[in-house]
Amino acid sequence: MADANESPARGRAVRIVRTLQEQGHVAYLAGGCVRDRLLGLDPKDYDVATDATPERVRQLFPRTRFVGEAFGVVLVFEQGHPFEVATFRSEWGYEDGRRPDHVRFSDADQDAQRRDFTVNGLFEDPIAERIIDHVGGRDDLAARVIRAIGEPGQRFGEDYLRLLRAVRFAAQLDFEIEPDTAGAIARHAPQLERISRERIGMEMQAMLSGPRPARAATLLQSLGLDAPALKEPALTADLPTLSRLGPSPDLVAALGAWALDRHLLPGLPPGAAAGDLAGPLDRFADAAGTLVRRWRRALCLTNQQRDALRHCLATLPTLLAWPALRVAHRKRLMARPQWPDCIRVFACLEIEGLDALRRAIDDEGTRLEAEGIAPAPLLTGDDLIVTGRKPGPRFSRLLDLVYDAQLEGTVRTRDEALEWLDREAKPGEGPAPPWPRGLR
Ligand code: ATP
Ligand code: MG
Repeated sequence: MADANESPARGRAVRIVRTLQEQGHVAYLAGGCVRDRLLGLDPKDYDVATDATPERVRQLFPRTRFVGEAFGVVLVFEQGHPFEVATFRSEWGYEDGRRPDHVRFSDADQDAQRRDFTVNGLFEDPIAERIIDHVGGRDDLAARVIRAIGEPGQRFGEDYLRLLRAVRFAAQLDFEIEPDTAGAIARHAPQLERISRERIGMEMQAMLSGPRPARAATLLQSLGLDAPALKEPALTADLPTLSRLGPSPDLVAALGAWALDRHLLPGLPPGAAAGDLAGPLDRFADAAGTLVRRWRRALCLTNQQRDALRHCLATLPTLLAWPALRVAHRKRLMARPQWPDCIRVFACLEIEGLDALRRAIDDEGTRLEAEGIAPAPLLTGDDLIVTGRKPGPRFSRLLDLVYDAQLEGTVRTRDEALEWLDREAKPGEGPAPPWPRGLR
């Protein structure tokens, strides 16, 4: 099919199909790429399914690699790009609820039957320009429905990851989950625990940073998948923050918003003044810390994602006290890498009277940004040594103090900074920064 608008990736996949067909094989595009094209979406990747055995595929293409030998999947490189070429197969005997005990090469019909949902079970012959539908996938695409192929309970029992895949596709495509399929998901939800946390984490991360994170979370909660996915009690929480976050958010922002909606929103101290900030802030930070540790394990977050989530949450209540913060503190907050996520979640918080504060932060943020929120420090540890101070634990505190003075515009040169230190920060003196734990 020489379509002028054809994407390069599709063009390469079609070349693979053509080569196979020219050698007398049945070969189709398969699964998600067929579904997405029929929906007018740009497929993430293209998969090819064929009756050629893996050995045959390796003979026909110069650059290949076995990736899933047991499943008959060969990686074929076309113009340097990898494509999965899978031999039609049947699978059975899923004793462990994760993967089949037996695989046998078969035909397109049987291959469609082993796939998870009808909309994922379609083939396309791009040469004959024909859709091959053994499972009623086209009707369900038109009706915008996620329906298990075959008997839903049995299909989820084969591979419990499909419980999450159903939710991901419903959220990603904005489809409904067909009632029998949804019923089977709810019944099997506790079995999700049998799937590895890596695979659970990948599905969860994909749906929460996808186009409809709030819909994904709503479905997870209503089907009882939130408990096994997050390793905590089931909860049907309203999701005002997550709903306002919008499409395709950063994962950390999505998790932060969902954490607030499920657990933390009531703990936020609205309108807290500087003086009484420490208590509520520490309580909030403790609750956030426990939650982040749990979610890290449940979703296999990286250390970086965990830290970003913790800082994002810990910063939120401080933003409520923005007017009481020193300029140095404001600049330090803005200079943190988590600031964009944090401010995005803050913009979605549903707390009365917050709009004026949000505008103030916005306006002042622009001004501070222009001034410079993270200038190079005027003084370093070496400067302190040169002035006769002894290296020790006090060093970093002194440097913090003088950097604050720099951020506030109190000192503008190295000499001013040294003078300021002599004057303001005698040994043992100097005010303790009014920052709560975890914010420096
Ligand atoms: P995406 O847009 O996320 O890539 P996809 O439908 O292409 O969606 P993949 O995970 O890339 O999903 O898998 C490709 C195809 O393999 C699916 O369309 C489906 O037919 C089949 N498949 C994948 N995972 C499973 C599974 N766990 N159980 C049954 N079939 C599956
Ligand atoms: Mg895919």
